[in-house]
Amino acid sequence: MELKRTISPDLIKKAGAEAHFSERLSSLPERGPVKLCLNGRDIPVVTLRQVHSSTVRIIEHTRVYDGDALISLSGSWIGVKTADCVPVLGASVVSRAVFAIHAGWRGLIKRIIPATVNTLKKHGISPDALVIAVGPHICPRHYPVGDEVKKRFRKIYPEDVLHGDYLNLSRCVYYDLVESGVREDAITFIDKCTFECPEYASHRREGRTEFRQINFIGRQEPVND
Ligand SMILES: [Zn+2]
Repeated sequence: MELKRTISPDLIKKAGAEAHFSERLSSLPERGPVKLCLNGRDIPVVTLRQVHSSTVRIIEHTRVYDGDALISLSGSWIGVKTADCVPVLGASVVSRAVFAIHAGWRGLIKRIIPATVNTLKKHGISPDALVIAVGPHICPRHYPVGDEVKKRFRKIYPEDVLHGDYLNLSRCVYYDLVESGVREDAITFIDKCTFECPEYASHRREGRTEFRQINFIGRQEPVND
């Protein structure tokens, strides 16, 4: 699948990894590998069947890829698909590990972000050794939510994640990361709203759409061992 344009944050490059946030694409597989092509380079990316859970998978440990966060300890290419939800891509600065998180409102409430940081910790990867890029998603000006959802967010997050009926997903991601021990200056946010920008797929704008962004990360060089 040919990718025309991606956003690739410098912060991740400094950790020796490469992260890309694509524009809208059709025909992405529900899970498993997808062969992407970027600037003439083939990039095989493993994806999950995403179920709005707090399930974190390590691709070296399992071949069953249902869940909402994927870790590769060896730096192989992994990705998550989004259309309004928040894609969170990260890399360790002291090991080859990379990770990709699909964080919608359900996943945030189920604590997918702390679950991912804790799984990394169990594998010896400290949160203060992470760099993280938060990709295009629906902005708070275009994301009204119902009373039940508001109530659930108020239980977990500080007040400023809600402004009236409008939910600020990236603010929730920020709180989760910082409270998990990630350094504030190690997080970068891509300031693009999927609802506003027609180059992105948006559930809220398009209804049930088969279009998605793919957000992926890995390390280019093969492992020498
Ligand atoms: Zn917006």
